[in-house]
Amino acid sequence: MEFIYLDCYTYASKGEEGISLAALNITYNRTLTLKLHPKNSVFTAEGCAILIAIERFIQEEDKSYILCSDSLSVLKSLESLHRKSPTISLQIGSAIIRAILRSKAIKLVWVPAHVGITIIEQADEAARAAHTSEVNIYPCISTEDLRKVIFRVQADQGRIQWESTKYFRSFKHLPKTTKTQLLPRRREILLTRLRTRSLPAKAILFKVGLESSPLCRQCGIVDSNDHILLTCIFFEQLRNNLGASLGSGALHYNWICTISTYNQRACSAVLHFLLQVPISFKIAT
Ligand SMILES: [Zn+2]
Repeated sequence: MEFIYLDCYTYASKGEEGISLAALNITYNRTLTLKLHPKNSVFTAEGCAILIAIERFIQEEDKSYILCSDSLSVLKSLESLHRKSPTISLQIGSAIIRAILRSKAIKLVWVPAHVGITIIEQADEAARAAHTSEVNIYPCISTEDLRKVIFRVQADQGRIQWESTKYFRSFKHLPKTTKTQLLPRRREILLTRLRTRSLPAKAILFKVGLESSPLCRQCGIVDSNDHILLTCIFFEQLRNNLGASLGSGALHYNWICTISTYNQRACSAVLHFLLQVPISFKIAT
């Protein structure tokens, strides 16, 4: 049986250039390149490359076609099409039904990697070339991708609005980690308050009218969170013990805030200090 070999390739980068794609008719040495709007996902672009290869290259009724793609996700989605399948998969399904009428047979083949296959690498090169060329952007964006863009814009608007309020504070000194080990509630509160500089020190209570003075009862200096942890002479012995436990001479507030709850020894030392400070007793449990 005589086969006509087709291949598809996509090239995506994080830039604003968009995603480029190429469909290659290896047998007739013809290439089609296209650029998609950058809001399209890589999945849509990979599906679009298959769609274009089917619609443009499958034209001869007496020929059988083998279409190669490295997109396993798109090919898998075609195996079990249903009404909630991605739009691009449904479009490919319709295109295949139409293309069957104008061909002998169509086979879709997954090619895990194009590297080393000279002819197939042409599609890769064509897609890369289209990425930086002046090829017009194909006026298409899938409904799923558009929905994601709208949700992202809405979420961004909410975040921008929140960040512009007087209640917003940025804790840039804290690590952006999602992995933490949960501690008993009271210890969790103490650590969080320390990290966000919101332990109920006199300076904070004075601001909201709960104290008559912002000054430390022991040393007469403004009683802030930094004062409690780093400078108040009343807690000097406790501070020395903390420094010895942490193996550090001079304590740094931001550094202490970054101690992970997985570092049990260091975490216990910080909590021991906080639990000895009289201010901790004002924290509700
Ligand atoms: Zn003090």
